[in-house]
Amino acid sequence: MSDKNTKEMSSSSLDPANPEEWQAFRQQAHGMLDDMLGYLQDIRSRPVWQPIPDAIRAGFHEPLPRAPGDLAQAHRTFMDNILPYAVGNAHPGFMGWVHGGGSPVGMLAEMLAAGLNANLGGRDHIPIEVERQIVRWVRELFGFPETASGLFVTGSSMANFIGTLVARTRKLGADVRTDGVAASAQRLSAYTSARAHGCIAQAMDLAGLGRDMLRLIPVNEYGQMDLSVLAAQLKVDSERGFTPFLIVGTAGTVDAGAIDDLTAIAQIARQHDAYFHVDGAFGALAMLSPQLAPRLKGLELADSVAFDFHKWMQVPYDAGFILVRDGELHLETFASQEKTYLKRGERGMAAGSPWPCDYGPDLSRGFRALKTWFTLKVYGADGLARVIEHSCALAQYLQQKITANPQLQLLAPVALNIVCFRYLPEGISDEQADALNQQIVIALQESGIVAPSSTTMGGHFAIRAALFNHRTSTQDIDALLDATLTFGRRLAAA
Ligand SMILES: *Cc1c(COP(=O)(O)O)cnc(C)c1O
Repeated sequence: MSDKNTKEMSSSSLDPANPEEWQAFRQQAHGMLDDMLGYLQDIRSRPVWQPIPDAIRAGFHEPLPRAPGDLAQAHRTFMDNILPYAVGNAHPGFMGWVHGGGSPVGMLAEMLAAGLNANLGGRDHIPIEVERQIVRWVRELFGFPETASGLFVTGSSMANFIGTLVARTRKLGADVRTDGVAASAQRLSAYTSARAHGCIAQAMDLAGLGRDMLRLIPVNEYGQMDLSVLAAQLKVDSERGFTPFLIVGTAGTVDAGAIDDLTAIAQIARQHDAYFHVDGAFGALAMLSPQLAPRLKGLELADSVAFDFHKWMQVPYDAGFILVRDGELHLETFASQEKTYLKRGERGMAAGSPWPCDYGPDLSRGFRALKTWFTLKVYGADGLARVIEHSCALAQYLQQKITANPQLQLLAPVALNIVCFRYLPEGISDEQADALNQQIVIALQESGIVAPSSTTMGGHFAIRAALFNHRTSTQDIDALLDATLTFGRRLAAA
């Protein structure tokens, strides 16, 4: 072998090459950790979000780096050009969409998981037992039987899709996986509220059942699915030869946090032999709070529940979850063991069947369970419940301030932690108010003070404050109100 070959044979390791290099790496690593802890500790001193300069964006259009580079240099670029231009959901002033704030403990757990680099598709190792521990905790929390199965997925979009597929298997049998939906004589129809998340329609699309086969049922004044309309639609569809197979209830609508009457929906689903799935993306984890849990009555009757640890429970992205009452049906929907390279064993590393890959479409899977396990072990269910209760208390505080101010108008009842309102000074039309409030939301986001998002409520453009961040306090709510009024006055005068 030539010298060159020998060198290439011995030098492919990506690790530092010797004790001196390890020492230098260790020092750099500690510096990086310190920078992230500093980011979290001093986050209030930063803007929530800031517009991205063109030059920064252009910096990510460089050619593929062929030659090795310096870690310290890459980290510097991260600190200067990436970190300041994130969306800001770690910041207490972030009130947009439905984003979790993350936590220092979750951050450290992510690092440990990355170091271990476990693949949780299958095989016999303790990381999978950690995931099963979470499944057991979730069953306990939601009052599900021991035969219920659970799986970490990216998010509730995927979890709702999996729930839809399990419902499809229940109605058409596992043969649908081989024969396809087109081979069935049945025309499956599904039902959810008009305020349901868009991923429910997407799930129908991905499952080959079609978006039009999802009936969007109007909501009542509280934003809940109108059950008399649901019953009427089920009747009409049955008479017209459709097969209702799935009803999706929402526990916490994305726009206003409304919770459907889950107990009543469970009963209607049973009457029509339909599967009852709950999209509890953020709301389901209100079960952590004994004070809020009664609001979710009926959740324990669901055939499956989709939810996210990465929203209200603050686990770093991503950590979605699907819980399925009938673990066998869940298995029938996904299991496939005919591949020789995935053969299971009684002993050795290939033991421990069924594997997580038998419960969903992913084979290679990261160790999402670890950051969730750390979050629960360190903060405790009670500590996390306090975070959730605190967000709801802040929403009540905000609601009171809005109703007490004649220039502000509340646009939806506050069910949990989401407040929809608008700036409505005397004498302006609805049309002017829509345009003005759109400008206010942009001004708030660009100010870096607070970052709400928007939605439409009762035909009006609404400023939407979704309070999910554990760092948010009354000080941030006051800042939201002050800035809304200041920008509102300024923009209305312009
Ligand atoms: C966030 C959310 C979803 C989507 O969940 P992802 O984790 O973003 O995929 C679905 N439904 C509701 C009610 C949500 O709030």
